[in-house]
Amino acid sequence: MPGQAVPPPTDPPPAAADPRIAAILSRWWGFETLRPLQAEAIAAALDGQDSVVVMPTGGGKSLCYQLPPLVGETTDVVISPLVALMKDQVDSLEAIGYPAAALHSQLTPEERSSVRDRLAAGELRLLFTAPERLVNTGLLDLLARVGVKRFAIDEAHCISHWGHDFRPEYRQLAMLRDRFPAASIHAFTATATPRVRADIAQQLDLRSPRMLLGTFDRPNLCYRVVPRTDRITQTLTTLGRHRGEASIVYCISRKETEQLAARLAAEGILAKPYHAGLEPTVRRRTQEAFARETIDVVVATVAFGMGIDRSDVRLVLHTSLPKSLEAYQQETGRAGRDGLAAECVLLYSSADVFSWESLVRKSATESDLDSDEQEQLIAGQLEHLHAMRRYAQAARCRHAALSEYFGQAYGPEPCGECDVCLGETESLPDSTITAQKLISCVARVGERFGVRHICEVLRGAKSDGIQRHGHHKLSTFGLLAALDQRTTENLVHQLLDQGLLARSEGDRPVVMLNALSWEVLRGTRPVVLLEPRTGKTKTAQADIDDWKGVDRDLFERLRSWRRRVAEARGKPAWTILDDKALRGIARDKPTSPAALLRVKGIGEKRLADFGAAILDLVAGKPS
Ligand code: ADP
Ligand code: ZN
Repeated sequence: MPGQAVPPPTDPPPAAADPRIAAILSRWWGFETLRPLQAEAIAAALDGQDSVVVMPTGGGKSLCYQLPPLVGETTDVVISPLVALMKDQVDSLEAIGYPAAALHSQLTPEERSSVRDRLAAGELRLLFTAPERLVNTGLLDLLARVGVKRFAIDEAHCISHWGHDFRPEYRQLAMLRDRFPAASIHAFTATATPRVRADIAQQLDLRSPRMLLGTFDRPNLCYRVVPRTDRITQTLTTLGRHRGEASIVYCISRKETEQLAARLAAEGILAKPYHAGLEPTVRRRTQEAFARETIDVVVATVAFGMGIDRSDVRLVLHTSLPKSLEAYQQETGRAGRDGLAAECVLLYSSADVFSWESLVRKSATESDLDSDEQEQLIAGQLEHLHAMRRYAQAARCRHAALSEYFGQAYGPEPCGECDVCLGETESLPDSTITAQKLISCVARVGERFGVRHICEVLRGAKSDGIQRHGHHKLSTFGLLAALDQRTTENLVHQLLDQGLLARSEGDRPVVMLNALSWEVLRGTRPVVLLEPRTGKTKTAQADIDDWKGVDRDLFERLRSWRRRVAEARGKPAWTILDDKALRGIARDKPTSPAALLRVKGIGEKRLADFGAAILDLVAGKPS
């Protein structure tokens, strides 16, 4: 409270050793152990020591602020940027009987005063609210009266303009330190860069915060980069590996999402488009349908994501290149949050790099920044883009490449969970000769034509353009007649990616030779081209392990039961029980309440609510 002296820190037992934690964890959540970083983050909270906790998406941040208030029966406050995020959290907490509520703009006056009453009566263990709400209402006084001692700032990178999602209203949180000098502040984020981390600590005026840094690798995700030859066919092939499972397909443009979703629907896939241009009601309906498992696939622009906590997303497919590895890590982070094996596929074409480059330049020059600032902005964005491109074109372990980008060493390789380590990427048998044919065709047409025309010449196509320029008379005409157009274009893009060909700027870029092209032509530089192919994949070890011993029929019966419960309650399905728990049941086939309680994810409340129904399903009785 303002003006009050800071009380000396109390001396609780070392939290990791606190036997109450294990009991709470098992009773409420049905989990056996904390993850290592969770134990440290919870210890910091219980010690009243400020902290910055950096964990990748799916790392288990929420438990770090959900558990501590149960230990000392306090009321803690969580700041969250989005109403959807708050609602999801409150829903899943209510499912385990945890007293939590949210104050946000979508409540009726009655609902709001009921939350305030429960808060004043000290009934709540957690109150979720938005930063602007916290500073603009009498809420602060109320929080002071109930003696709030702990604040958790979720998505704390929003406070930093170095982060990827700066929100000015987060800056107002700086007043928490003055207003609640005795309280501890705990910042949570999945953004790793040291600059953002330091900025968070400084902006919030944290007192020698414990810096708790998680590992960025997501071992349950299997990453693949596939040369894009045909967006629709490749999307169908990839989705074919995930029938009836939750998938997110990302596109760049709104139009693409609609066309692709319509196409998938025509193939009998339960898919809907999602982008910022749709009516809010349509968007909400799609979100809810996805949450309640009545649709499987959302075809979306990156507007879809924040606030979507469906934990059993088994596939995230990018049909175009994201503009940075930060964005890619965040978007793929939505896969496999339940810790079960999931797949992340990127359809890559370097044509996307060129589109992004011109977009970056265009939006910078159209901004009202001065020319120096424009140059800086462009340089910064191109740096991110080129890191993304290097990731996509490198034939190197994806887990290692991602971890290293985020400043962490990775080992050991091969990981067994990426296309490169699984040996799915194959090089073209006569790469160097093919490269020489491609490059010499670029030279023969006088370095004045784009990718498509060059490939048409190589394939011996009978187009008007070719006739008009007399290119059917070139020695390279028809040299690669055995390949199709898309494959040929893909190979030219691979050469561009590797810097073995150059390309002019502008709207109608032409392909040109550079010094390295000549080395290839002279035979002094060997070339490795990847075989563009679709859908030859092996099963990742994590996926095999996660299904071991699971009765798939029972799992599907449990899922449809869960879907009905979710519909009836109007709640997201994963808040009822997540896939990990369902697979645990379908593996252990418990026949008694005590055995059911041993399944991870089943605590006392869920046992009371669903125990009988689940045991009936396991026993094969109709539900
Ligand atoms: P984040 O907020 O960091 O993205 P969440 O808090 O949503 O991650 O947690 C991700 C998943 O991990 C959830 O399904 C959650 O139930 C599960 N989880 C968290 N902590 C544990 C634990 N100690 N044991 C087992 N599962 C856990
Ligand atoms: Zn690998």
